[in-house]
Amino acid sequence: MVPPSAVSLRHVSKSYDGRRAVCDLALDVTPGEFLAIVGPSGSGKTTIMRVIGGFETPDTGTVSIAGTDVTLLPAEKRNVNTVFQGYALFPHLSVIENVAYGPRMRGCSRAVRRAKAQALLERVRLGDAAERRPHELSGGMQQRVALARALANDPAVLLLDEPLGALDRKLRDEMQRELRRVQTELAATFIYVTHDQDEAFGMADRLAVMRDGRFEQIGAPAVIYDQPANAWVALFVGSANKIRARVDRVGGIATLRSDLGPIEAGYLADGLVPGDSALVVVRPEATYFGKDDPAQPAGANRLAARLVDAVAIGPSLRLRAVTAGGVAFESIAPRNREFPVTDPLVPGDPVVVSFDAVASRAYHDETLS
Ligand code: ADP
Ligand code: MG
Repeated sequence: MVPPSAVSLRHVSKSYDGRRAVCDLALDVTPGEFLAIVGPSGSGKTTIMRVIGGFETPDTGTVSIAGTDVTLLPAEKRNVNTVFQGYALFPHLSVIENVAYGPRMRGCSRAVRRAKAQALLERVRLGDAAERRPHELSGGMQQRVALARALANDPAVLLLDEPLGALDRKLRDEMQRELRRVQTELAATFIYVTHDQDEAFGMADRLAVMRDGRFEQIGAPAVIYDQPANAWVALFVGSANKIRARVDRVGGIATLRSDLGPIEAGYLADGLVPGDSALVVVRPEATYFGKDDPAQPAGANRLAARLVDAVAIGPSLRLRAVTAGGVAFESIAPRNREFPVTDPLVPGDPVVVSFDAVASRAYHDETLS
């Protein structure tokens, strides 16, 4: 038999003062999975976490944890734990007593709960800190204690809402690796909210992309990035060049007409037919800037522009160009194979912006803010 989902949402909606915070959500999280929820501020991420955690009752729909409908159960009756940004450790208890707190409340014997807490402390590499007090530890260490304390309850799912939001970059990177390692080793189920896309892409098995209280797309990071479900997702994750165009011919490689020239796109969204307006999206790393070479025949996906700037950002070179009509393009290339060293492009140079048809995706041209 297939084990039940760790978390299952069906038709979950929640309004505040008549305004929909989340709307008709469906979600299944597999046991052992790391799911990250990303979306703009106010899109409903925290509301989902509060609904799953039992701090909020949905107006409609059901919440199941490990196969049991918990929609009407309060937080303390659910097999769910939440790790907040503030660690909320008990200052008067030692580290091991903090971790053993949940098992103690459930009536575990002292020997059992201490053994369990010690094992978890070793798992988060704090085996030596068991008898210390929280205030004696660094922020990152306290965060690991909070993680161990939450895991000591053997939750069916651990909810983490921006848990690293307060940490500086370096500590954050370190904690990302720690969290992922512990989650993998324990095969724990994590639902993780972050506004940091790099964090989400780097850590998660799957991403759920939210907008205005709905999931726009749920899938593996590479699928979300390479095959976004619509133009909004394409532009929300990473960055992208965009060209407004009109569909000319569909099938195989679609062709479109734009003010900048003919476009070929390897993907055309369902429902687009000749004559429809579309938005063609292509990632900067699939966009190339070259010298304007009169010997080169004009063709699809070759647009005339002028170089605006070329900036080295760590290992990448970011080039920007703009067409006569004011459409901006960006190209990102690794510096180790970048571009004519003997005769480099300089700002002001005319350039040909080109991109692969297979990397170009044509979407319904929804009005995008
Ligand atoms: P996110 O975590 O993605 O930033 P939230 O889930 O916190 O988004 O909020 C979603 C929407 O619900 C927002 O419009 C927010 O203003 C509203 N909202 C959230 N919590 C409350 C609340 N307790 N009372 C009123 N409105 C709320
Ligand atoms: Mg939030």
